[in-house]
Amino acid sequence: MKKLRFKFLRYLGLAKLFKLLFQRDKVTIILFHDIDVDTAEQSFAYLSKHYNIIDLDTYIEAHYRKDSSKIPKNAMIITFDDGHIGNYEILPVIKKYNIPVTIFLTAGIINTNKHFWFSTKVTDISELELKAKSNKERLEFLKDKDFWQEKIFETPEALSKKQIEEMSQYVNMQSHTLYHPILPKCSDSDAKKEIVESKKILEEEFNLNINTLAYPNGDYSDRDIKIAKDAGYRCAITVDYGFNTLDSDIFKLKRVSVNDTKDINELIVKASGLWAFIKSRNGTKQAYGYAKSIKEYT
Ligand SMILES: [Zn+2]
Repeated sequence: MKKLRFKFLRYLGLAKLFKLLFQRDKVTIILFHDIDVDTAEQSFAYLSKHYNIIDLDTYIEAHYRKDSSKIPKNAMIITFDDGHIGNYEILPVIKKYNIPVTIFLTAGIINTNKHFWFSTKVTDISELELKAKSNKERLEFLKDKDFWQEKIFETPEALSKKQIEEMSQYVNMQSHTLYHPILPKCSDSDAKKEIVESKKILEEEFNLNINTLAYPNGDYSDRDIKIAKDAGYRCAITVDYGFNTLDSDIFKLKRVSVNDTKDINELIVKASGLWAFIKSRNGTKQAYGYAKSIKEYT
């Protein structure tokens, strides 16, 4: 049923029209999490043909210099959140298409056998209810499910240092906090630790140049923006619906989630922003998150 809807929206020409009317002169930031090689191949083939893929740093420089000469029409920035170990498998596809990609690493989880909290199976409350809890309450709730942030599992879920070193020659690696909390639900000290220490670890232990924060789950408050600015970030990315211009608030950049889809029609409709636009009119937040076990809420 859902598949048919995307096919309909694509072949009716609505995605194309939306792209032409609203997207052409903007910078679209697209969000993936953990796609396999075939999906990467299909997605990158489409996106590199229909958009001009630019690096995040190109946008950041253009923003601060107020110089649009390096921003083409139909500009797109490709991003991946979390630093899933599966991202390593698509490195050959990234190299093949020779396109800039940014991966936001969860600094406390990469290069360890610690797991993402959202991999924990939760059935008694919804993902939304869990994310609505204070950070302390969420962690207490998860502890009852035998999960805690420092717990070491048998296998890794995130990229290793070796993989990051190899990938960082081709991929821009940035920060996605330490443990992926919902920042506005954190105490002042926890939010500060998550934002400041992730940058420090990625720079000092992984030799990366960190200038951008992707807010976990896309959630942020004015306090979190201030912490990020004070910590020396130059840019931060949300999952708020919409496109960007050089005048956009660079600590609230908008991003379009494509839900790691294998369906080319869904990718086309979502990449054009049409889907998030329809969803945002409905008052529903666009689908976000990488939820293997927690039920998707859109
Ligand atoms: Zn994330």
